[in-house]
Amino acid sequence: ARTLRIGLIPGDGIGREVIPAGRRILEALPSSLGLKFSFVDLDAGFETFKQTGIALPEKTVETLKKECDGALFGAVSSPTTATKGYSSPIVALRKRLDLYANVRPVKSVAPTPAFPDPIDLVIVRENTEDLYVKEEKTYSTPNGKVAEAIKRISERASSRIATMAGDIAVRRQRVRSSTGDTSGKQAVVTITHKSNVLSQTDGLFRETARAALSQSHFQSAGVQIEEQIVDSMVYKLFRQPASYDVIVAPNLYGDILSDGAAALVGSLGLVPSANVGDGFAIGEPCHGSAPDIQGKGIANPIATLRSVGLMLEFLGQEEAAARIYQAVDGNLADGKLLSPDMGGKSGTEEVLEDVIRRL
Ligand code: NAD
Ligand code: MN
Repeated sequence: ARTLRIGLIPGDGIGREVIPAGRRILEALPSSLGLKFSFVDLDAGFETFKQTGIALPEKTVETLKKECDGALFGAVSSPTTATKGYSSPIVALRKRLDLYANVRPVKSVAPTPAFPDPIDLVIVRENTEDLYVKEEKTYSTPNGKVAEAIKRISERASSRIATMAGDIAVRRQRVRSSTGDTSGKQAVVTITHKSNVLSQTDGLFRETARAALSQSHFQSAGVQIEEQIVDSMVYKLFRQPASYDVIVAPNLYGDILSDGAAALVGSLGLVPSANVGDGFAIGEPCHGSAPDIQGKGIANPIATLRSVGLMLEFLGQEEAAARIYQAVDGNLADGKLLSPDMGGKSGTEEVLEDVIRRL
């Protein structure tokens, strides 16, 4: 059996309750999958900062780089007031490991009056450039201060993010065929931009993404290319979320769209993400450290369990990932053992055990 070494970075608050659940689901995967796991516990976060003055210890980065195949990151608390020397460990990790994509699937639990059709979409956000290069400056003029920021879009980053979106569309299509899916959903990548106004930066993103998605292997796999201006996209995403498959976006639009889209499915406790580079992936639930429910044993583990699935997918373990997704969907469809954020009465442990039973 192949052994994958997984770094566990629980961070703060409920990160310390949901990351152990992530480890348990990996340990519970059926041995017929031919996979084994070993784990290494790693520090990061605000507690680590308070103890050591550093939010992301060098040892964590080095261990991930040298020993690990993938990792799970819980959540970190941010200081409420500006704190000298503190900076977000996950942002730093994305940089240090060149995790250039943030991937966020959004999937509905059950039809609702507002959204009768099932929502099942993925937002693929470029994670290294755009306005987030943080090259800002402020200067004075006779009419007061002016502040400016650089929006940088490169062919290389746009091409690799669009290629990843295409790969995801192909993989989703393959899963739909192999599971006899009857939704009629097609493989479509929607390119998000505002090139009617920003013809050079967003124009380059749009053209480069189009070229990447026009590669023959995507075309022969039936991947359709659509594009949409970001503001009208927000409108349509909230009116007809079921009509989307894969959305690819530059950093800023992707950030906004993916946090917004998480609101479509009820609880933050359901929404996973992955930070992905070439050959490495960190699964990360979208929620924060939730100090209001910390220590009560009621944090919903599902966002983390789905993030484990995502990590496995990007490590090439699609079958193991599918087992986790199906077990989670089974728990949600059954609806008997749900955590309080979902209107249920079950704690973290009970939800986890139900999902494990369904593996
Ligand atoms: P939050 O996501 O921690 O919590 C928002 C609300 O959702 C809370 O009521 C919380 O109880 C609930 N919730 C979140 N996850 C849940 C789960 N798994 N199960 C059940 N309920 C859940 O956001 P916040 O309250 O704005 O932030 C709290 C802290 O987390 C802050 O310090 C913030 O900076 C940090 N934060 C970190 C991340 C991250 O690490 N990626 C993301 C967002 C916020
Ligand atoms: Mn965000």
